[in-house]
Amino acid sequence: MKNLLLEHMRWPEIREAIDNGMDTVILYAASIEQHGPHLPENTDVVLGYAGAEDLARRLGNALVAPVIRPGLSLHHMALPGTVTLRPEVFEGLVKDHVAAYVQHGFKRIVLSSSHGGNFETMSRLAASEGAHYRDQGITIVSGISLDDMLELLAELEVREGLAPGTLGGHSDAWETSEMLMLGNENVRQDLAEQGYMGGLLGGDADRMFHGGVVALSPNGIVGDARPSDPQRGARIFQAMQDAQEKAVRENFARAGASL
Ligand SMILES: [Zn+2]
Repeated sequence: MKNLLLEHMRWPEIREAIDNGMDTVILYAASIEQHGPHLPENTDVVLGYAGAEDLARRLGNALVAPVIRPGLSLHHMALPGTVTLRPEVFEGLVKDHVAAYVQHGFKRIVLSSSHGGNFETMSRLAASEGAHYRDQGITIVSGISLDDMLELLAELEVREGLAPGTLGGHSDAWETSEMLMLGNENVRQDLAEQGYMGGLLGGDADRMFHGGVVALSPNGIVGDARPSDPQRGARIFQAMQDAQEKAVRENFARAGASL
């Protein structure tokens, strides 16, 4: 399969790809943060590359930027290994990536996230950077919103026949199953546990962002990581990517830049 990761490509290949219409770039922000007793700190990075690369293949004219990390993870700092960036540093990092890709000739940019804490900033930056570069013929959009994603998780939980709260959204049977689907060598499924089962809808996401994850869950898991397997990971990944592709295409269409 053709490599779509910019950081793996040589500059002549990149120039040729852009000249031949591969002029969309997908920029995900992830995190370096605690992911419960059983998943590695780079979980959102691994899932970010998987999501961004799959989205690029679906769009057909897109390349994938290096996944940005660390991100905004203040709410996970109580547990070791987590690194969080100051908001202005994170925003500067995203803006500098956007500036580079504009300079190199990309015309459409997707700003999305594989980590809940970055969503709000990424969609705000898509709007402000989009306005900033509009005169140069550049269109910048975000992907699926955090609320839509959490609602989809709740639907998937029912479809998968899982107990309420299982797909809580952090280090749960969603992220764990996807890591198993990808064959990640740092998953310790034997150490998977149940965490906070109240879900993140209805204000609990705010409680987590402000009080820290341990206010909800001492082991750092939101949901239940135990009922995880690669097949479940593939089903959930597919459904999430369908929703992401739909959101991105709609956002481009709304901005008047169809793909
Ligand atoms: Zn995660």
